[in-house]
Amino acid sequence: MTPELSTPVASTTGNDPANNATRLLTALHRRDGAATRAELTAQLDCGRSAVSYALSDLVERGLVVVDEHPQAFAVPGAASGRGRPSHLVTVAPTSPVVIAVHLRVDTLDVGAFELGGRMLRIEREAVEPSPDVEMTMRRIGRLVRMIAEEAQRPCIGVGVSLPSPVRATDGYALAPRHMNWPGVAARDLIAAQFGDATALAGIPVHVGNDANLAALAEYVHGAGRDARNMLFVTTEHVGIGGGLISGGRLFTGASGYAMEVGHTTANPGGELCRCGARGCLEAEADSRALLRAAGRPDAPATGLEYRARVVLADAASGDPAARNAADTVAARVGSGLAVLVNLLDPDRIVLGGLLARVLKLTPESLAAALHEGSFLERAVAVPVVPAQLSAPTLVGAAELALAPLLA
Ligand SMILES: [Zn+2]
Repeated sequence: MTPELSTPVASTTGNDPANNATRLLTALHRRDGAATRAELTAQLDCGRSAVSYALSDLVERGLVVVDEHPQAFAVPGAASGRGRPSHLVTVAPTSPVVIAVHLRVDTLDVGAFELGGRMLRIEREAVEPSPDVEMTMRRIGRLVRMIAEEAQRPCIGVGVSLPSPVRATDGYALAPRHMNWPGVAARDLIAAQFGDATALAGIPVHVGNDANLAALAEYVHGAGRDARNMLFVTTEHVGIGGGLISGGRLFTGASGYAMEVGHTTANPGGELCRCGARGCLEAEADSRALLRAAGRPDAPATGLEYRARVVLADAASGDPAARNAADTVAARVGSGLAVLVNLLDPDRIVLGGLLARVLKLTPESLAAALHEGSFLERAVAVPVVPAQLSAPTLVGAAELALAPLLA
């Protein structure tokens, strides 16, 4: 997985019109699909006439529309000074869409997205972890075809999030263990669902790791905006994943498998992890760990996330055992983050899923453990903030599919 999307917007200036059009489109995308012409001109730093040229190119290609007489500004952060209002640039209703897929242990989400990261439609189905890979691939194929058809706009790609490390070169999912799958050639199997007979034949399919994609989404559209080195750590159903944005790009390592942050040691000699080590962050601070810390059962697997949220709700309303459990997990998260801060020197840490809720409930326990465990954190005081997006992984899968248009 190599999301070229993450090319810094203002890294180069110049007179290449095609390059200016791409940079303008990327800037508009990062402003969630709506910006004033003045904002885009300021960001691109390439002169008014170059912006005019790039804009008319994008309008001609049906990608953006320009409102020369905007009645009211609804653009977050837009200047509200007096004088003639700047033209408003938005994503065109004729622009292409991408289809994003988020496969989890218990649900399959498929949505249509346009530039700017706006979700047009979503469909959710319940799934059971089953070793029948083919069956799941057929369900993905059927839902993608349905959503693409309903969008009634050109579809330029499919982005798929899987709960597994994913090889960058060929979209091979190395270890979708929570699905009870062996390693699978995910990209090829999904692409095979769009054979010659369908309108999606030959469509590019991109596959990425769920936490990596959520990191990308939070960086582009959420709590990580404008960070330089953003560390993202999250938990969903079981386990803990993460991602790193470094220098404006998702850091994926040599093969695409980097940032398995769940196996950072958070409690030496602690709980046995499925990786064989003890005290890994994911064995100490995921939904199951929170339930165990609160003295509640961590099985069955169904509804784990919900039951973990109940613990946090009980902690918020004063239940001492639940409060203790939240403090314990927060401290483990802080200890795990301390290791990562020493290694990665982030300028922002974004926590997603259950960890965002833990952070909101008990920020002091987390901060204290982070501070104690990391000499770098003591030096630079890295801000730790909750994620902002409601469906970051799905948004990230859409980012993956939109990347070629913005490259
Ligand atoms: Zn582990």
